[in-house]
Amino acid sequence: MNPKRLTSLKHKITLAFYIILGMALLNGVIAILLSQELRTEIEQLVSTEVVKVTTALQLAKNSERLQIITTELNHYDTEEQRQSLLKELTIQWEHLLKDTKVLYTLETTPNMHQALNSTIDTQLYFQQQLPLLDKLTDSALQAKIQAQNIQTNLTGMSSAFSDEMQMLLDQTHKRYSLLFAQKNLNGITENLSEHQTLSEYLHLGEHLFVLLDEVKNTSSIVALNRLQREAMRLLIQMEDVVPTMRSNNTIYLNWLSQIKQNMVGNDNLFELSRNALKSTQIANAHFSYQANAAREIAQFTQELVNHVEEEIQLAGSNLKSDSTSFVILIFCGGILYCFFIWLTSWHFIAKGIIKPVIATRDAMNAIANEKLDTQMPITDNLELQQMVSSLETLKTYAAQVKAMAETDGLTGCYNRRYLDTQIQKELSYANDHNMPLSLVMFDLDNFKQFNDQYGHVVGDQCLRQIVNAAKSILQRPTDILARYGGEEFMLLLPSSHLEDAYKIAERLRKTIIDLRIPHQNSAHFGIVTISLGVACWQPSQALDVNKLISLADEALYSAKQAGRNRTEVLDKA
Ligand code: GH3
Ligand code: MG
Ligand code: MG
Repeated sequence: MNPKRLTSLKHKITLAFYIILGMALLNGVIAILLSQELRTEIEQLVSTEVVKVTTALQLAKNSERLQIITTELNHYDTEEQRQSLLKELTIQWEHLLKDTKVLYTLETTPNMHQALNSTIDTQLYFQQQLPLLDKLTDSALQAKIQAQNIQTNLTGMSSAFSDEMQMLLDQTHKRYSLLFAQKNLNGITENLSEHQTLSEYLHLGEHLFVLLDEVKNTSSIVALNRLQREAMRLLIQMEDVVPTMRSNNTIYLNWLSQIKQNMVGNDNLFELSRNALKSTQIANAHFSYQANAAREIAQFTQELVNHVEEEIQLAGSNLKSDSTSFVILIFCGGILYCFFIWLTSWHFIAKGIIKPVIATRDAMNAIANEKLDTQMPITDNLELQQMVSSLETLKTYAAQVKAMAETDGLTGCYNRRYLDTQIQKELSYANDHNMPLSLVMFDLDNFKQFNDQYGHVVGDQCLRQIVNAAKSILQRPTDILARYGGEEFMLLLPSSHLEDAYKIAERLRKTIIDLRIPHQNSAHFGIVTISLGVACWQPSQALDVNKLISLADEALYSAKQAGRNRTEVLDKA
């Protein structure tokens, strides 16, 4: 049979402690992992969705600003304005592209992803268009400025022309008065013709200047062409008028050449204005195209924001259900933890420690209460096993001490101390159960002389023989033989009536005779004999232990008095 492996209590308690600690740590780790998971979800929600919304709103704002810039780019007057507007436009496109790229990396929905991708392509296209727009607006502005310079020049010319022609008319008028006074009819006729021609020239010139001035307010190529045709017609008419003039043709030809210089040839007013108009129209078309694109981006961004809002709502509800699962998991973990603690406590502490400790305590109590037949507990605890072993030794010692305390050393029967206790117990038992109790007291006859004759050693041996014989006739386990003192003995016979006790006494007396121990000085057949006194306690008798013993003693005395080797009864009840 394999001996049970012993485990130290300390080891067992440490193990239980570590299991409980381990379970608590495991529970803690699970809780931390789950909360980490929730935290990640929240962080993701914040870092992705919130950034998405912020970026999308920024994108919408920038595209609105871009729309405004494209509108402003339809009207600029200086190079600084043009450059600053174009610079701002470039920056806005850069912002839009940057924010759209951010959204593209954050967005995971395939549709939105694709839409963002095409938006990025559009934006890249418009960014590539910016140098072209720079060129267009630059040439438009240059042409416009040159045209304006010509206009300014023409304005100056216009008033100088009118002044000079008016002065010439005045001169013609003065000459007319002089000719009229001279009554020079030919002169008057010539003078009138010249005045008329000059008036027509002036009128045509002033009309032409008005037309040329209108060029600056013209915003369409068609109108400009019409103005040019009209102006050219007036110029030709003026040219036609000049040869009819009689005097000083140089002035008129000079004016004509000055005016013509601005209307035909390289970089004339109409050519420049047309160039400015064309470039501006192309650039404006581009700008409105860009403005539309920016508007679409803004609209798309709004859709994106709506979409992100839905995503946030979804993530929020996911988060809610995840946190519910988290709480349930933690709760189950707690229940499992309690179960494990209960299991550990039950297995290691209740079953493994407390139960064997209680069993050991019970065994100790039993031994302390002289129940020396108690079974020792079986345990696998090292310390308790050591206690049980010590208890086993103590039990043996206790049994030995008890035996020594109760037994007569010479004869091996019970001693007087044990007898006194037992009589007391048996008397109360008899009293309680309404049973009789008998006492037989016996004494060796003339034993002094036996000793004198055979010596004390033989006397002792004789006493042992007597005890063995007396033991042999006792039939019930409750019957007790005790040495009362010296060579006097007592039979305690519970539940025995006087008659039964007497019979036992007689049987004993005869048994001793049958031993036939030689005793030369004995008056009875030269052998050792005994005298016996019997007393009996009957239920309801008012007798205490001492009285009962003294009754037996008196009966014995009577037997001695009556000649020895006999049994006497003294029933005074
Ligand atoms: P009686 O018939 O009247 O009883 O006469 P007796 O000689 O027996 O008288 P008593 O009872 O007075 O004598 C007791 C003797 O028993 C005295 C003593 O020598 C002897 N005795 C008592 N105890 C022991 C013992 O332990 N061993 C031996 N060998 N003798 C003992
Ligand atoms: Mg005697
Ligand atoms: Mg005696």
